[in-house]
Amino acid sequence: MTQALIVIASPDGTLKKNQQELLTLGRSLGETSVALVGDAAAAEAAAAFGAVVSYTAPAELGSFGAAAQAAFVAEAVARSGATAVLLENSVSAKEIAAVLGVRLNAGVVTDVVSLAADGAATKSVLAGAYTTVANSRGAVAVYTVKSHAVEPSEAPVAGRVEAIELPQDAYSTAARVVSRAAKPKSGRPELSEARIIVAGGRGVDGDFAPVEELADVLGAAVGASRVATDNGWIGHDSQVGQTGVVVSPQLYISAGISGAVQQKAGMQTSRVIVAVNTDEDAPVFEIADFGIVGDLFTVLPQASEEIRRRKG
Ligand SMILES: Cc1cc2nc3c(=O)[nH]c(=O)nc-3n(C[C@H](O)[C@H](O)[C@H](O)COP(=O)(O)OP(=O)(O)OC[C@H]3O[C@@H](n4cnc5c(N)ncnc54)[C@H](O)[C@@H]3O)c2cc1C
Repeated sequence: MTQALIVIASPDGTLKKNQQELLTLGRSLGETSVALVGDAAAAEAAAAFGAVVSYTAPAELGSFGAAAQAAFVAEAVARSGATAVLLENSVSAKEIAAVLGVRLNAGVVTDVVSLAADGAATKSVLAGAYTTVANSRGAVAVYTVKSHAVEPSEAPVAGRVEAIELPQDAYSTAARVVSRAAKPKSGRPELSEARIIVAGGRGVDGDFAPVEELADVLGAAVGASRVATDNGWIGHDSQVGQTGVVVSPQLYISAGISGAVQQKAGMQTSRVIVAVNTDEDAPVFEIADFGIVGDLFTVLPQASEEIRRRKG
C-alpha cells in the first residue's frame, strides 16, 4: 500500500483549502501522514482530513531555506516509509521538492493537475497545448500539485504527533530569514487558491475598477496580464502566466487580454474560461468556453449589475 506524505506549512495552526485538497488526494493513494512546518496545532486539523501521523519540525526550521525543510521532509519520509510526497505548487514548495528529489534520488513532477491512485501524474504543458502523464520509477515520487485537483473532504482519524529533531549539521544555517511582514489583506481570495478569477489586461487602460467590481460581486480574486502589471496598474503578485502565478480556477474571466501564449500558460487549465475582448480575432477566443466580443467597460458592469440583481 502506498504511504503518502503531505508537506504542510502552517504559520497559524490552520489548513488552507489547497492543503486540505492535498490531504484528500493523499488518502486516494494510501495511508497518509503529514510533515508539518509551523504551528503544531495544525496536526489536529490534519487528523480531521485523515493524517495518521503528523511529523512536526523543530521550531526554528521555518527560518531557514528550502534545504533545511527538505532535510526535515527527508527524515519524515524515512520514518513514515512514504513512497509519494505531495506538496503545494508554490515557488517555495517547488524549491523544496527539487532539493528533496536530489536528497532521495526521487522523481519530481511539478504542476500536477491530477494524480491517479497508481501514481500517474497528469500535467498540462506547452501553454496547455498538450496533456502529459508522468510516472516516476524511483522508490519515492515527489509531486507538486496545483489547487483544485480534488474537492477536499474530511475523514477524521485519531492522529498521532511525532516531533522530529534534526542534528545540528543536517542543514546549512548560513542564511537565515530575519523578519517577515504579512502582506496587507485585500479581503479577496488568494489568486492561487481562488475558485473564480477575474483578470484584466491592456484593455483596462489603467482602470481596474470594472474588473475589481465584478470580482467582488463574485467573491473572486483579481488577476492581470503582464502588460497590466508592468504598467503598474496592479501589483506584480496579480500577474497570471508563464512568469507569474499559474492558476487553475473553476472560472477564469479574461477581460481586455489578447491571450498571448505566455498568458495562456498560466490559466489554460481553468475549468471554464470566459473572454471579453473587442477584437473577435483575439487568440484568447481559441481557448474560451464563452466569448463576448465587446468593450469590457460596458460588458463587465452589466455582468456585475445582473449578478447583483439575481443575488437579491
Ligand atoms: C518571456 C516572457 C514571459 C512572459 N510572461 C507573461 C506572463 O506571465 N503573463 C502574461 O500575461 N504575459 C506574459 N508575457 C507577455 C505576453 O507575451 C503578452 O505581451 C501579454 O500577455 C499581453 O498582455 P495583454 O493581453 O494585456 O495585452 P495585448 O496583447 O496588448 O492585448 C490587449 C487586448 O485587449 C483588447 N482590448 C483593448 N481594449 C479593450 C476593451 N475596452 N474591452 C475589451 N478588450 C479590449 C485588445 O483587443 C487586445 O486583444 C511574457 C512575455 C515574455 C517574452
